[in-house]
Amino acid sequence: MKNKVGQILLPLGSENEFFEVTSGSFTSGGLEFRLDTGAFQFLAEEFISQGVLGIAIDPYSAFAEKLDEVAPVFRRRINVPDKGRKISSQALAVVRPMADELAVDLAPMYPYIHGWIGPQLAALVNEKSPRRQTLLEDVFVLHGFCYHLLLGIKHGLQVDINLRRAWSAVHHLRAACKSQTARANLAFVQSLMSSYSVEYVGCLRALPQANSSELVDNFDEFLADELYRQISVERYRLGLPPVARKALLATRTLARRLIRKKLFARFFDYGTKAVSVGTGIPLPNSEIAGTIAQEAYLPPIVDLTEPISTARQAWAKHRLAGNDAFSVTSPILQRRRVKPPVSMSFSDGILIVTYDFFDFTESFDLTNLPELGDPLLHESFRKYFAVNLDPPSTCSAHSSTIGPEAVKVEWREHEIKFTVGACCEEAAKAGLVTMLAYSQAKDYARNE
Ligand SMILES: [Zn+2]
Repeated sequence: MKNKVGQILLPLGSENEFFEVTSGSFTSGGLEFRLDTGAFQFLAEEFISQGVLGIAIDPYSAFAEKLDEVAPVFRRRINVPDKGRKISSQALAVVRPMADELAVDLAPMYPYIHGWIGPQLAALVNEKSPRRQTLLEDVFVLHGFCYHLLLGIKHGLQVDINLRRAWSAVHHLRAACKSQTARANLAFVQSLMSSYSVEYVGCLRALPQANSSELVDNFDEFLADELYRQISVERYRLGLPPVARKALLATRTLARRLIRKKLFARFFDYGTKAVSVGTGIPLPNSEIAGTIAQEAYLPPIVDLTEPISTARQAWAKHRLAGNDAFSVTSPILQRRRVKPPVSMSFSDGILIVTYDFFDFTESFDLTNLPELGDPLLHESFRKYFAVNLDPPSTCSAHSSTIGPEAVKVEWREHEIKFTVGACCEEAAKAGLVTMLAYSQAKDYARNE
């Protein structure tokens, strides 16, 4: 019964984005930042927009174990699927034939999502061949994709997964894997992915003047509305291929009717949102495909990157303003400190910061770190850190951005060196702070 309404899966990684740098500088005391659940409240608008009545939390995320720290208005709608890791094993079974063929160790396999490669970093840096590095990453990506897709299938969720990245992983792996089971699984996943197309659902769009704390205060009332509940049912039905088209049209009619209601008109306007909708489950061609194809549901795919980033920024601003409009405080999930660097300099648009290598990497899982001089390993490290600058950091003084491509990471035996190209010193430092805090936060949350 509870699966018959719109539920959304918050992806692994999202909880790590709910952090802020609280104090410190590069030169004294180091950087300190905290993770808390405060930004969650700023997602209220997105939840309503997506017709959500339930929120599923990735069982691998730090949030899954800290639910009593989430505001009650959200907490009572949260569930944590797959606590017994049954779906997790099924996702591993999909990628196992490829992993076996490529000799990838599946033991430390956390579902990879949004470029987060914490637990897999050691495997990547240990791999010297660039071709094999790419293939390993493809196995990780495909595993994360299958896991979140399966969570969606089994629990009737809308999910946030990167279809394009998974597509290229399948493409590479099909060229590399020869075993019959690997090829059958890849073919099934590929035909499942190719059944998706981008559609536009009708939805509520918060007015620019809509106040977040009022949205939270009225959250229960919005979600209790009969028309809203109908939208939520249609959002679920988008996952049922035979009725998906009808459901799509229904979201538009219902959202238009809903914004005419007094309660909603104060906060919302009519809008549309891109959602990838699956049009058919392919015929199973293998044992694991049979398990997936038993279900009639194909999870609609939504993109939460921007809403999550906006929520985090709003939370940071809210705190900076010393604003305490929310009735609920947000206890700290984690505190983390990055020690001060050994040296720092800025000239000609280049910021160079060096850390003691072992100070810096003590919280990272780098078992069996190989020889430190290898240029390919430097590229892995660069990717690992720089992925945390997507979306890019911005400089308001010069209207410019600092993205992953602006960062170089190198190390010697006792030193790790970050080079950041930017318009000015402040922007370069801000970019580096964001990048380091994300990296540390992600790794830390997983190692708890
Ligand atoms: Zn600047």
